[in-house]
Amino acid sequence: MGIWKKEINTVLLLLLTAAVVGGLTGLFLPLLFLLMLAIIMRQVVQIKRFEAWISRGGSKKYPKTTGIWEEIYYHVYRIKKNEKHRKKKLSKMIDQFRQSTEALPDAAIVLGVHDEIDWANKAARAVFGLQQADMGQRLPNLIRYPEFIHYLKSGRYEEAVILPSPVDNRITLEVRIVPYGAGLRLLLAQDVTQLKKMERMRKDFVANVSHELRTPLTVLKGYLETLQDLDDGHSPLLTGSFQQMQGQTERMQHLVDDLLLLTRLETQQKKSHCVDVPALLSQICKEGDALENASRRIELTLETAAHIVGEEQELRSAFTNLLGNALKYSPDDSVVKVRWYQNPESVVLAVEDQGEGIAKADIPRVTERFYRSEIKRIKKVNGTGLGLAIVKHVLMRHDAHLHIDSELGKGSCFSCYFPVERICD
Ligand code: ADP
Repeated sequence: MGIWKKEINTVLLLLLTAAVVGGLTGLFLPLLFLLMLAIIMRQVVQIKRFEAWISRGGSKKYPKTTGIWEEIYYHVYRIKKNEKHRKKKLSKMIDQFRQSTEALPDAAIVLGVHDEIDWANKAARAVFGLQQADMGQRLPNLIRYPEFIHYLKSGRYEEAVILPSPVDNRITLEVRIVPYGAGLRLLLAQDVTQLKKMERMRKDFVANVSHELRTPLTVLKGYLETLQDLDDGHSPLLTGSFQQMQGQTERMQHLVDDLLLLTRLETQQKKSHCVDVPALLSQICKEGDALENASRRIELTLETAAHIVGEEQELRSAFTNLLGNALKYSPDDSVVKVRWYQNPESVVLAVEDQGEGIAKADIPRVTERFYRSEIKRIKKVNGTGLGLAIVKHVLMRHDAHLHIDSELGKGSCFSCYFPVERICD
């Protein structure tokens, strides 16, 4: 405000001087005109200098001047200086971010709205064989694996996709997309070659061991049956031992069969066709009844006639396992309800029992391999601990999921949800 006062005072003083001199000489109007002209000319010159300075970027030291113009120059100069400082800080931050992402061991690619590559780090350029010229290109034109293209298009990025590196197919990559901002996505790829190798070794090992155990077990079982036939029942110790041995070999055979089935589920290609689930369930329940020798224990309700696309043998073992567990873990005189029904999103198989139930803490763990709750171990209920692992795998292969509702002492309900897209004629 002070500077403005000074400026106005100067103009007023000049006007006063012009008025006094004009009054004395009688040339008031021409003098006033000359004064106005001088003031306007001075401002024009100042504006021109300012324009010349600002058009050069306005960051260099401003020309020497006085009054209000010095103030204007000073403010603009300060704003420019701050801006420069902020820009420097920001570009330093971006540089640091780029350097750190460049140094990441995992590949990272920033994808634009049309799947074009906006930016890629060193690891991404190496594992995907990207060149500088590929920046801005659409990624599906460069990585042509159908699974990857399907994953990219699907927009469902909760799970990762596994694919071989386009530059070296001995390298296995786990690719994951993380959406962020408006339509932008970050693609992350991790080298999982070693992990996959170990997983394959584990599967091969289990498959080989289970396979190799089959023959000796069959031989043992054969001899045992012969010995049991020869047993004249004179020695209770011998008879008891034979029975024990037979029980244990049978258990071992179940284990081996279950392990082989699990390995098959993990490694074999899916062969799907339209499965008549109501017929399959009727058959399984009939077999269950025959097994139990109490025909009223299983109540089958078929609320829908829906067939689903799947593998009949796999579904049979999953459903048999669920029904077997319901019968095994509930009292002989209680009812087991099997229900096949449909809701807007899924077709559901629910197997409900009034048995001992599962503790809340155990529920998330019962589908793990070899997991058997402590109570079963103590009571010695027969089982391998692989049944629910098989169910989980089969359902996974059918895009379905298992939901367990259970309360200790009241009973359990195991529900398999199949997506309605699987329904077939
Ligand atoms: P297994 O029955 O051979 O032990 P599973 O994988 O089929 O193995 O089941 C794992 C565990 O889950 C069982 O040991 C049991 O503790 C529990 N479980 C499974 N089904 C039921 C059920 N219907 N009621 C109570 N507990 C169950």
